[in-house]
Amino acid sequence: APHDAAAFIKSQVRTIPDWPLPGVQFRDITPLLQRPKTLRVLIDLFIERYVEAKLDYVAGLDARGFIIAPIVAYELNLGFIPIRKIGKLPYKTVSESYALEYGTATVEIHEDACEPGNRVVIVDDLIATGGTMMAGKKLLERLGAVVVEGAAIVDLPDLGGSKLLRENGLPIYTVTDFP
Ligand code: AMP
Repeated sequence: APHDAAAFIKSQVRTIPDWPLPGVQFRDITPLLQRPKTLRVLIDLFIERYVEAKLDYVAGLDARGFIIAPIVAYELNLGFIPIRKIGKLPYKTVSESYALEYGTATVEIHEDACEPGNRVVIVDDLIATGGTMMAGKKLLERLGAVVVEGAAIVDLPDLGGSKLLRENGLPIYTVTDFP
C-alpha cells in the first residue's frame, strides 16, 4: 500500500547533520538509489500517481531531479525536460532568477522544450523554500505549458515551500516529509 511504501522510503533517507553548512540537516536520497528494492518502490509511487494524469512530459530540476525524473518519464512512455542551472544548456533558453538566503540563483530551459498546452509534472528530490520549484513552474508556463503538479521525494514543511507553492496554484506531491 502507498502508506507502507512511503514509510519504507522515509526510513531509507539518510540524514547528514551540519552538511554542507552548520545547522543544515542534509536529507540524502542516495540510499534510495543504491538498492533495487528502494529504487523500485520509490519510482512505482510516482508511476501510480501519474499513470492516469495524461501528461506530455516529465521535467526534472538540476541536479538530483535529473536522477528521478527520466526514470519516471521512461516508464510512462514520455519525454524528459531538463531545467538546468544557468550556462549549461547549449541552445536558445528562457531563464528565471530567484532569491536564495544569500544572493540569487538562475535556472534555464530550452525555448523549444515543449509546446503550448502540454501537460508537465516537475520532479525534484526535495522541496525546501520552494524557490527552485517555483522558478521551474514559471519557466514552463512561459513556454505555455500546463504545470499539473510539482513532485518530490522529501518535503521540509517547516521551510514553507510546499505551502507557498500550493498557495500559488501549484499542487504538490511528496512521498514523505521531515518536520
Ligand atoms: P529550495 O529551492 O529552497 O526548495 O531548495 C530545493 C533544492 O535544494 C533541492 O533541489 C534540494 O536538492 C536542495 N536542498 C535544500 N535543502 C536541502 C536539504 N536539507 N537536504 C537536501 N537537499 C536540500
